[in-house]
Amino acid sequence: MPAHTTQVGIVGAGPAGLILGHLLHLNGLDSVIVENRSREYVIDRVRAGVLEQGTVDLMTAMGVGQGLSQAGLRHDGLYISFQGQRHRIDLAELTGGKAITVYGQNEVVRDLIDARTGTKRPLYFEADNVSVGGLDSDNPVIRFRHGDADHEVRCDFIAGCDGFHGICRPSIPDGVLTISERVYPFGWLGILAEAAPSSDELVYTLHERGFALFSMRSPKITRLYLQVPPDEPIDEWSDDAIWDEMLTRMTTRDGWRPNIGRIVQKGVTPMRSFVAAPMRYNRLFLAGDAAHIVPPTGAKGLNLAASDVLVLARALKAFYEQGRRTWLDEYSDVCLRRVWRAQRFSWWMTSTLHRSPDETAFDHQRQIADLDYLTSSIAAMTSLAEQYVGLPGEVSFESVGLTRRQEEQR
Ligand SMILES: Cc1cc2nc3c(=O)[nH]c(=O)nc-3n(C[C@H](O)[C@H](O)[C@H](O)COP(=O)(O)OP(=O)(O)OC[C@H]3O[C@@H](n4cnc5c(N)ncnc54)[C@H](O)[C@@H]3O)c2cc1C
Repeated sequence: MPAHTTQVGIVGAGPAGLILGHLLHLNGLDSVIVENRSREYVIDRVRAGVLEQGTVDLMTAMGVGQGLSQAGLRHDGLYISFQGQRHRIDLAELTGGKAITVYGQNEVVRDLIDARTGTKRPLYFEADNVSVGGLDSDNPVIRFRHGDADHEVRCDFIAGCDGFHGICRPSIPDGVLTISERVYPFGWLGILAEAAPSSDELVYTLHERGFALFSMRSPKITRLYLQVPPDEPIDEWSDDAIWDEMLTRMTTRDGWRPNIGRIVQKGVTPMRSFVAAPMRYNRLFLAGDAAHIVPPTGAKGLNLAASDVLVLARALKAFYEQGRRTWLDEYSDVCLRRVWRAQRFSWWMTSTLHRSPDETAFDHQRQIADLDYLTSSIAAMTSLAEQYVGLPGEVSFESVGLTRRQEEQR
């Protein structure tokens, strides 16, 4: 059996695992990344698209921001639409120049895989039967089958970056984790369409028939979402029916509506809020979706994954360079503070913009009043703006050996 040793074994090559691997590499620390899917599957998986200012700055400072600066679409504002009218919130003006950038998660992952490959450090795709063991010892192991061989990686630490359905969180003994969860009575039907975006900025809509979101992936590709029941069979939605419903919910009184085009991808995603605490068991550290899930309305999931591993990289760097354990011990608390703020924001965006099956007329009028207040009060718009572009980071870039070069993105 091939046996390897490494400082940090990373399970999962999503945004969390790949960013962590690169941050460790930049600090001269060794890691092995083990991913159970193929390279193509990981890159083609259509998911997030909205990057906070801090995530953009991090990618840039890590030296993996070239694709982002060429193809990322910087948005200085967004629209909230209700009762047939769009209202613009100027994110940049309200936050001293911060913005969000639309850049597909698949592009983020592609850039990070290219960077990883360039370092020549190990990254195993299509690893079967991945498991973690020795979690009560000082030398935990990752085991997997790759090609025709069984592998064992002996690690100082394991980073569980294997998403919500991974194996790391369930490997923690019963009774250690406290789970906080909320499952929403709706999901999102999402499409990618070959249509030029008809707005330069995102449009979040609350319509009588439910939530809808207009977004984009590039100057030629529109990304749209509809609120549907969580178990809605996607096969029951013809392309014509999807466009009818999109246009019904999104068209505004001034005639604005999405451009129609060929639908090239569609699917339904259920929505949940989930937090497992603490995000650590001995030398196993959970990061990203492995530890927490937010409903996508606030566009926080990938961004939280990035901020978790920044905190973890700082702690590992301090451990190896100075023998300092405090930041490892504080990892979970530092991350969970941001996670819970993002949970609150995502829950608020979700409950304000979706129609619940058991809502009353009072509930709906309260939603309208909430949106009316939001779009007419500078204080309320500022609150949304500072959370949407991302609250200040928990740790500095300098603490992981990076310099902040955010002005390059401006
Ligand atoms: C429709 C939708 C829209 C979204 N929009 C946004 C948005 O605009 N902004 C935003 O910030 N977030 C958004 N998100 C959330 C975002 O996609 C996730 O939060 C993000 O992918 C989390 O990254 P991660 O690396 O923690 O987990 P993942 O991306 O899930 O990566 C985990 C990796 O681990 C691998 N893995 C799983 N099990 C194993 C195993 N046993 N062994 C080895 N590897 C394993 C998986 O294949 C995967 O590659 C959205 C999500 C959805 C579904």
